[in-house]
Amino acid sequence: MASKRTPPVNDERALREAVIATALAMNAAGINRGKSGNVSARWRDVAFEGFLITPTGVPYQQTAPEQIVAMTLRGEARGTQLPSSEWRFHRDIYVARADAQAIVHTHAPFATTLACMHRGIPAFHYMVAVAGGMDIRCAPYATFGTQELSDHAVAALAGRRACLLANHGMIAVGASLAQALALAVEVETLAEMYWRALQIGEPVLLSEGEMDVVLEKFRTYGQPQA
Ligand SMILES: [Zn+2]
Repeated sequence: MASKRTPPVNDERALREAVIATALAMNAAGINRGKSGNVSARWRDVAFEGFLITPTGVPYQQTAPEQIVAMTLRGEARGTQLPSSEWRFHRDIYVARADAQAIVHTHAPFATTLACMHRGIPAFHYMVAVAGGMDIRCAPYATFGTQELSDHAVAALAGRRACLLANHGMIAVGASLAQALALAVEVETLAEMYWRALQIGEPVLLSEGEMDVVLEKFRTYGQPQA
């Protein structure tokens, strides 16, 4: 996996390979199983503006760079494969968020467990601020692949880089594939800790004032990496 210091990928072939490497790393990190998640990266050149996304129905180990689907911001797919069924929220996040350069979507077990209870992650731990705010929201349920789900996801991500999706999974957004993947790992770690704390009782939440201090530190010193 590329480190955070890797320079931006300027070559389409290299970015296609990085999308596949990120999907494989997502499963290797234990935050996704099988083909249920998906990964994309924003891509533009003189003749194209859109993103590159994992195809539907192809195991990541068998995905070749040419099978990664190029999609325009209008949702037109180019390539030999069909895009992931969740392409709509990838497209809508790139349209809504100039800061989004890469998106990782997983069905991570602990994040999804909370999402099945329609519980977001409150400020039970200061690292919740790594997603950009006081909490990590849980978007309401809607059928996978629908515009309704996409609308819920974009709303839940307002002012945040990650959200849970009710009865479904999570989304992490980054300035690079490496950042999006690191954030997805961090969200799953937080979800596991929150779930464990809930086994004992209701965790003590940090105040808005304490979280403001942390958010300011992250802005000043950069986000800690998982
Ligand atoms: Zn999904």
